[in-house]
Amino acid sequence: MHKITADWICPVSSEPLENAVVITDNTGKILAIESREQHDPTSLETYLGILVPGFINTHCHLELSHMKGKVDTGTGLIPFITGVVTQRNASAEIIAEAIEKAEQEMLDGGIVALGDISNTPDTFATKAKGRMRYHTFLELFDFLQDAGAEKTFADGLAVYEQLELVPGSAGSLVPHAPYSVSKSLFEKINAFNPKSNIAVSIHNQETPPEEDLFLEKKGAFLEFYGKFGISLDQFKATGNSSIYYALTHMNPANQTIFVHNTLTSRKNIEAAQAWSPHTFWATCPNANLYIENRLPDYSAFLNTQARVTIGTDSLTSNWQLSVLEEMKTIARYQSYVPFSSLLRWATLNGAQALGFDDTLGSLEVGKTPGILLIQGVSPDWKLGMGARVKRVI
Ligand SMILES: [Zn+2]
Repeated sequence: MHKITADWICPVSSEPLENAVVITDNTGKILAIESREQHDPTSLETYLGILVPGFINTHCHLELSHMKGKVDTGTGLIPFITGVVTQRNASAEIIAEAIEKAEQEMLDGGIVALGDISNTPDTFATKAKGRMRYHTFLELFDFLQDAGAEKTFADGLAVYEQLELVPGSAGSLVPHAPYSVSKSLFEKINAFNPKSNIAVSIHNQETPPEEDLFLEKKGAFLEFYGKFGISLDQFKATGNSSIYYALTHMNPANQTIFVHNTLTSRKNIEAAQAWSPHTFWATCPNANLYIENRLPDYSAFLNTQARVTIGTDSLTSNWQLSVLEEMKTIARYQSYVPFSSLLRWATLNGAQALGFDDTLGSLEVGKTPGILLIQGVSPDWKLGMGARVKRVI
């Protein structure tokens, strides 16, 4: 049994508690949260700082970990994708070793669950070890080619069947992005996934050319597709932002995680929330700075009560895989976002998005959420740039 106390305890599902004690069994399951006066001080593990639940990382591509530092920063999404497509090949040993190392980095940084995008089975051996709770988003794209949807789907299904053999690993098929998935492929994905309550994701409104393509069938994506010899002759502009194409073709009964959202407006958020009450918005600020050197407008999300979650994206588009570093970046550039919101985004919202809130995401009796100590939050609840995290349970 553990009796743990610190200056503050932030259960996330309820208000912060001063001078409280979290009591867990040896597996980390929370048995009670009580006041410090009820306990002999010598029986307590006492820390300076605040105790919070384990972090949930809702967006990563663990299988791209071996590409750390290979793609330039600040060039924009299209050169970035080109870099990934042309440089992702490496030996199985190099890929496997980088995945293991990346998982360890996340565990050391207090991450207890991951929503992980996979195009290949490369991460499945690591996932089978069960050191973290995973939802694998088996991601499909056919470059907007309806004629290619059937083969893309069959190839993806073959990988998904291998995922089903991984003990305890949850998963779903997901579309990559509006600019890369045909209507036919959306239909096949919807027909395959459970009809409700399963987590799915899609990269959303990440770069201005994505909007140019859907609004006017113009811009850098036409050039990108041309370079790879892919015809967009059959593609028609919808005259609307890319997110509306996703809303038209995804299933509103599932938990949909829109990822990146650097160009998403208040109107777009409201439209998505009217489409489905199960919408989540994964933000990956460091990847946004790495790739496009821009950030979402977080006020639009706060003003619409949007359920924001945090993702690190992959080591191809980030300097590290740390939820705390993502929180610090938001605190640095848009400091009006309260610490309480950042913490909820980093924990409970992510657990709900992935369907893991039965055990994770908040300090509540009966859960086994992992317990983290954060140091470096000021008395007026500002996250300092020197803040650090360590896993206590
Ligand atoms: Zn991504």
